[in-house]
Amino acid sequence: MPDLPRLSERILFAPRRACGGNPIPLPLMSTPKHVAIVGATGAVGVEMLRCLEERHFPVGKLTLLASARSAGKTMTFKGQPLTVQELTTESFGGVDIALFSAGGGISRDFAPAAVKAGAVVVDNSSFFRMDPNTPLVVPEINKADIAKHRGIIANPNCTTAISLMALYPLHQAFGVKRIVASSYQAVSGTGAQAIEELAAQSRLWASENRAWDAAKLDCAPKVYPHQIAFNAIPHVDAFLDNGYTKEEMKMENEGRKIMGHPDFRASVTCVRIPVFRAHSIAIAAEFEKPVDLQRAYEVLRAAPGLQVIDDPANKQYPLALNIAGQDDCAVGRLRVDCALTNGLSFWVVGDQLLKGAALNAVQIAECLV
Ligand code: NAP
Repeated sequence: MPDLPRLSERILFAPRRACGGNPIPLPLMSTPKHVAIVGATGAVGVEMLRCLEERHFPVGKLTLLASARSAGKTMTFKGQPLTVQELTTESFGGVDIALFSAGGGISRDFAPAAVKAGAVVVDNSSFFRMDPNTPLVVPEINKADIAKHRGIIANPNCTTAISLMALYPLHQAFGVKRIVASSYQAVSGTGAQAIEELAAQSRLWASENRAWDAAKLDCAPKVYPHQIAFNAIPHVDAFLDNGYTKEEMKMENEGRKIMGHPDFRASVTCVRIPVFRAHSIAIAAEFEKPVDLQRAYEVLRAAPGLQVIDDPANKQYPLALNIAGQDDCAVGRLRVDCALTNGLSFWVVGDQLLKGAALNAVQIAECLV
């Protein structure tokens, strides 16, 4: 499969598009910082690099860290080649801000060393998210919590962050009680290897000239428990004793913490689908107050980092293909829910590599400087 890496790069390096409610800011007037990216070669890491560059983050020095497998590889920042180094506990001398995106185990083992060396860590893994001493932040919602940090600030789960971009403004207007939601999650949410798994399976199907009803492929899935091409897998993350997966419970647990709403309840089914990039979530929400549809549109149109795309008569609604590579999330398909009291149903889409990961982390770092 010689050209797989090229396809993967196309997914990871999708063209970034101008954004409405979340403009790329003018250069920040701040002392340049020494920034480290842990997991720089991963699906999120490469987007972090791009966000730092495109948002004119005041980078004085950039240290790129990954596993021994990537040590010596070259990546480019502002036209300059940078060599990836192997992550060790000694990697953080002089680092001001460390963006971690290499999995929970790496965050557990190395974030304390970064803090000890004087860095503030913005962690993209789930490891510190529910720690009471670690702020869990979506800047459009709870930026003020950043000030409470003790060296580590956590970035939320991608599906949760994208959902809250639409749910939180509605909560402020109507007071959310609970939601029932289903997610349609892209393979890049699982990382670079998952992108290649979908690409390889799709290529295999095409090369064998399969008919639509013979889409079952003779190939062993490696990343996912089942073939992902032409499939929908209702299994994202590990199953818990209550029958939900860890990913599904993050919406309730992280949603409560970010919104400062301990009574918020969420019943979620997370589904992996053969989309390369951008997660979609169908949400039915029940509120304390009656929902006025026009008021709902008003609050969503005024929400930062969110576009309203909702013209079903003209087939206009948020689509993963259109939102991929875009900073803003999008909401549409608004309707008064026909089964809930004070209910509203809607469809939210966001690029989980950006608002669900790299962009949100860099926005947090911007708040720090
Ligand atoms: P990925 O594409 O698999 O990348 C993993 C990164 O971690 C690579 O840079 C890898 O380096 C590095 N790494 C792995 N083992 C390492 C080690 N022992 N020492 C140092 N670096 C190591 O995964 P990803 O999708 O970017 O996800 C990274 C983290 O972000 C995970 O915690 C994930 O849960 C979280 N996250 C991801 C998304 C998403 O949309 N993908 C969204 C939200 C949160 P090598 O290249 O050298 O192996």
